[in-house]
Amino acid sequence: MTSVIQVAAPVSLPIYNSEQTFPVQNIYCVGRNYADHALEMGHDPDREPPFFFMKPSYALLADGGELMYPPLSSDVHHEVELVVALGQGGTNIPVSEAANYVFGYGVGLDLTRRDLQAEAKNLSRPWDAAKVFKHSAPCSKIVPKDGPLLDAGNIQLFVNGDQRQQGNINQMIWKIPEIISSLSTLFPLQAGDLVFTGTPAGVGPIVPGDNLLALVENVGALNVSVLASQSCR
Ligand code: MN
Repeated sequence: MTSVIQVAAPVSLPIYNSEQTFPVQNIYCVGRNYADHALEMGHDPDREPPFFFMKPSYALLADGGELMYPPLSSDVHHEVELVVALGQGGTNIPVSEAANYVFGYGVGLDLTRRDLQAEAKNLSRPWDAAKVFKHSAPCSKIVPKDGPLLDAGNIQLFVNGDQRQQGNINQMIWKIPEIISSLSTLFPLQAGDLVFTGTPAGVGPIVPGDNLLALVENVGALNVSVLASQSCR
């Protein structure tokens, strides 16, 4: 049997210090998983638990590189995030078993058209137009898990050498096992899924010409340079 049309090849991420790659399936994201970021966005983290949204696989910008500033926005924001890569799938995964599903980690950026998000919030519409565009989810090489789950470590974002975001993985409201367990009650998790685990405070705009450096302690680094979109010229 042959396909009636040609489709894009699956996307994948390099694995640190390896010739092998990590094939990416679905991309899940956690919203408002750090109290200081929830507060800066005008929400009370004690009253509203974190929640989920998704990005398509074409949002992946594998191992960083050049990002074309997306269309129809003049306020694209950076959100540095720890990314968890799942080595196996499942449903209704208990918190106590969630660590077994983690293959490794990456450093990611949940890039967001903040102006379109504000409009969506005002009109009680979905966030897709804010969160989804080509390369809206840059992610570093994957570092395989080695021992217990990561539960602490600095997470930082620099723009042109200036620090904009600073936090610690230990500030996450939902820890990695709770995220995986909760996701798996809602969705059929698959091997190859990525989970962007939320951003600490300090989100802000990026503009063409910017060079972004995202760091997570004991995981790695991600470099992204922002190019002007064709439509801007
Ligand atoms: Mn985010």
